[in-house]
Amino acid sequence: MKSNASGSSTYRSLAQQRAVVTQELEVNSLARFGDVCEAVKDIAAELKFAHDGQARIKVSGRVHCMAQLACHRCNENVWCHVDCSFASVVAFDEEQADEWSVLDPSLDILVVAGANLDMVELVEDELLLALPERVCTDDDCIHIPVMRYGDAASNEADTQGSEEGSRRFPFAGLKEAIRASDQDQD
Ligand SMILES: [Zn+2]
Repeated sequence: MKSNASGSSTYRSLAQQRAVVTQELEVNSLARFGDVCEAVKDIAAELKFAHDGQARIKVSGRVHCMAQLACHRCNENVWCHVDCSFASVVAFDEEQADEWSVLDPSLDILVVAGANLDMVELVEDELLLALPERVCTDDDCIHIPVMRYGDAASNEADTQGSEEGSRRFPFAGLKEAIRASDQDQD
């Protein structure tokens, strides 16, 4: 089943229906994610609801967007594709989550605030976790400032040029001297 998310859908009913919810999210609705990005666009999520082997509500799927982030190396704002897939079980309070994580520490548990579907609470942390640590990688920071190299090279060339200009030619006068002596012989 495919449906657009509506506020009245509960996590329980979505799991029972094995619902797939696809939704484009408003940038403004993801306040915390929006705070750490310079700009965000094209936020889309596709989530599947089901029960796991222990009758818990399971949500899995993908959320992705374009986020503009500041590169701390070159101070440029760079558009990055943020894309993550996840699978979690839904807990309705911390106590429940604690019990489950004692039994299975590797379990990915999402504690929701209410019974009704809230796409933002399902995906916002996932997006935050999926943000790249570095906007530009070591090898291809295309925004790395190259002018430093250019300045150094031209300075070097200037220095070489001036050295050449001040170079002495001890025998430069010799030709003149020889020519002068030849004329004398004539
Ligand atoms: Zn950079």
